[in-house]
Amino acid sequence: MALKSKPAVGLDRLEEAIARDLELLCYPPKSWVREALAIDGRPVSDVIIVGAGMAGLTLSFALRRQGINRHRLLDRSTAGREGPWATYARMLTLRSPNHLTGPAMGVPNLTFRAWYEALYGSTAWSSLGRIPRLMWMEYLIWYRRVLSLPVENDVTLEEIKPAAHGLDCVLIHKDGHREIAATRKLVLATGREGQARPRVPEALKPFVGEAVWHASDDISFERLKGKDVAVVGVAASALDNAATAIEAGARQVTLLVRADAIPRVNKPKGASFPGFVEGFPKLPPTLRFKFLDYMASKRIPPPRDSALRLFSHENVDLWLGAPIQSAEKDGERLNLATSKGKITVDAVIIGTGFAIDLTAAPELESHVSQIMTYNDVLSDHEIDETNEWLAFPVLSPSFQFQQKDKGNAPYLRHIYCFSYSAAMSHGNVTGDIPAISDGADRLSRGLAGDLFVEDAEFHWQATCSYNDAELVGDEIPEATDWDPPVGN
Ligand SMILES: Cc1cc2nc3c(=O)[nH]c(=O)nc-3n(C[C@H](O)[C@H](O)[C@H](O)COP(=O)(O)OP(=O)(O)OC[C@H]3O[C@@H](n4cnc5c(N)ncnc54)[C@H](O)[C@@H]3O)c2cc1C
Repeated sequence: MALKSKPAVGLDRLEEAIARDLELLCYPPKSWVREALAIDGRPVSDVIIVGAGMAGLTLSFALRRQGINRHRLLDRSTAGREGPWATYARMLTLRSPNHLTGPAMGVPNLTFRAWYEALYGSTAWSSLGRIPRLMWMEYLIWYRRVLSLPVENDVTLEEIKPAAHGLDCVLIHKDGHREIAATRKLVLATGREGQARPRVPEALKPFVGEAVWHASDDISFERLKGKDVAVVGVAASALDNAATAIEAGARQVTLLVRADAIPRVNKPKGASFPGFVEGFPKLPPTLRFKFLDYMASKRIPPPRDSALRLFSHENVDLWLGAPIQSAEKDGERLNLATSKGKITVDAVIIGTGFAIDLTAAPELESHVSQIMTYNDVLSDHEIDETNEWLAFPVLSPSFQFQQKDKGNAPYLRHIYCFSYSAAMSHGNVTGDIPAISDGADRLSRGLAGDLFVEDAEFHWQATCSYNDAELVGDEIPEATDWDPPVGN
């Protein structure tokens, strides 16, 4: 049945509808977590979430739905600059189709579509196509505002220390102020690069920072006007950076691609269905490894729109089967030798993504040696020791880091990992749009359970002293014996 087209009603109307939705869902439920004070009298948060990108925002909403209300949500970026969307992302539109419900947590009026239709109407929606990148950021800013999420910007988590109440987090505020924040639980929702390092070809390492940048760097593209640029890789970020360089006036862009062929099939997209989301964490580690390693070996193709954008230009060249073997300075330029031949360029942009490396997260520095990774679990399975999946941390069903040596770092159970590095344990529920609500829901339930179990004695006492009588004592005239006695 064709739906009647709906005019734009404006955000005020949508926000009224959301307020009603949330009221019908009895949101927010009342807090139930034991209020705690540190030994020195500081208040202790139930949870601190570090990272207010899409994952942190969705989790904050999910925690409120669980009645875990005394949580903080911190981000080192200034407001509106969280995540990649308005910083180093250089695609024109998202890869994801626009109908995905993303962070909506099952509330229809919180979807991107509801937001878009409220602003532009349903006719505009039917012809929208992919979501413009900065419009997605606008939507996330609205999501945070309409739900009054407790984001604190310009705050960096620098260090984590075990404490009697759970953890102390050393936070550095923009004005230099240092705060020691007490919390029961800490969630690291620090994004794709939060516990990772940019992959940089060996030969280019000595030159990074001069005229060689990673795609996640703040690149001044205007400097590339009239220049020859090499871009390493053929995935999304390589093509988007190559196109941005050309659009900024680069003379020639050459894509240097290690592989002999361009991938066409996005395998993880085929694994985006409820069975995979729910079942993946239940598989044995060897089978999880098999799935992810296979998908990675097939590589993720660049989005069609990015390929069309780049190859609509004439001054772009594609070298397949051309890994960089060596690089040397030639005055201001760089001579690159590849297995397909030599090339001299003014600048190089590396678009080869990130590799998980827990040592890259400064806040984990003093804990990394205690954190169990898949290297500890799968070392007997004849997997090449350089395989990147081995660096992923082993997480509990509720996303907690695990101790490498049992008993040495029991406080690790208070640190929850809600970023891409959770993928080997939990699948793709901690970053990308399709299953972010599933991930936030799983983690919020996990936290609710863990907080309850840790306080089992407190909740036992509370159960014993619970005394909210439902019968007042006048319902059965002949009854005189009541438990507890009427009047108590
Ligand atoms: C260029 C690009 C395009 C993408 N396009 C898509 C797409 O089309 N579809 C899709 O499904 N996925 C896409 N993704 C993947 C994924 O959706 C995004 O990476 C998304 O931003 C993940 O959200 P997040 O909240 O996990 O991380 P982020 O959005 O990166 O947020 C993490 C936040 O943590 C903060 N932070 C980190 N460390 C600290 C610290 N120590 N103290 C305080 N704050 C800290 C950062 O400032 C950041 O704001 C894309 C990713 C990239 C990089």
